Amino acid sequence: MTDFALLISDWYRLNARELPWRSTKNAYFIWLSEVILQQTRVDQGMKYYLNLIENYPNLKQLADADEESILKLWQGLGYYSRARNLHKTAQQVRDEYQGEFPKTYSEIIQLKGIGPYTAAAISSFAFDLPHAVVDGNVYRILSRYYGIDEPIDSTQGKKTFQALADSLIPSSDPALFNQAIMEFGAMQCIPNNPNCESCVLNQSCFSAFNSELIKKLPIKKGKTKVRKRYFHYLHIENKHEIALDQRTGKDVWEKLYEFPMIESTDESIPLIFADSAQLIYQTKHILSHQHIYAFFYTSDKSEIAGLDFKFVEKSHFEDYPIHRLMEKYLESNSK
Ligand code: SF4
Repeated sequence: MTDFALLISDWYRLNARELPWRSTKNAYFIWLSEVILQQTRVDQGMKYYLNLIENYPNLKQLADADEESILKLWQGLGYYSRARNLHKTAQQVRDEYQGEFPKTYSEIIQLKGIGPYTAAAISSFAFDLPHAVVDGNVYRILSRYYGIDEPIDSTQGKKTFQALADSLIPSSDPALFNQAIMEFGAMQCIPNNPNCESCVLNQSCFSAFNSELIKKLPIKKGKTKVRKRYFHYLHIENKHEIALDQRTGKDVWEKLYEFPMIESTDESIPLIFADSAQLIYQTKHILSHQHIYAFFYTSDKSEIAGLDFKFVEKSHFEDYPIHRLMEKYLESNSK
């Protein structure tokens, strides 16, 4: 085992947080936790994880559930395509593997929506196979520790880091190494101002105590362009009903519900509700590649020419999965 692997494994034994998905070999639970944690912090993801395994204690139950119920449990977690893909993959495992997760890396990586990172995580954590995980934490530690300035968002860079991680992972207890390197990135070699003074790698780390280098690494080639969008929502309700619409098409929040909406190219009120609506709330909602400028209007009209929507019973409103922007508006409205 390399010094690097030894040091971070020892560090992990002393410093690891106790997390429910770390004490299981159940591939389904491990997979769920990995999907949740892809774009979510541990403290935020925990209750979603516990809630999902309580509602769907095994993969077959998740596969058999209807998509809307899964989206409802996912509500607030964001990146909803994760929930839809989770459902599709569960159905694939149910149909092709009798509901049991396949046990080899090559079969796992063939599953829909599972990439190299998740396949390596499941293979090592559930089946003790020596496949190295490479996520944002791993890029950060390896680039700083070994002083690698290849961009992590280039094909060559990805190959370099994966090959390096694969050469470091020991065949005995590969799961421990993978857990250790990710935890080390989350707790010790953090993105801003890591404490090199207290770091067990500081004697051999290329970037130790060099704050300029630490700031620079890991290197990213290009920043993703941010798209500006303008959403105008109409809140219409009467005594018993409220107007609601389901999002369709390949776009943000696919299949979630929201108020009837017009997307336009700027912030001025769309002509079709100009004479009947009143602006009561506006906000800027930031997603990873989009900034959504949202405007909420109320109206007492029950139909607006040119805008399709339906009314649902207010008493059933809670059953519909809605996105975070809708939640933000409803919270502001209830104050
Ligand atoms: S010495 Fe500093 S830069 Fe190097 S691994 Fe430790 S915390 Fe990260």
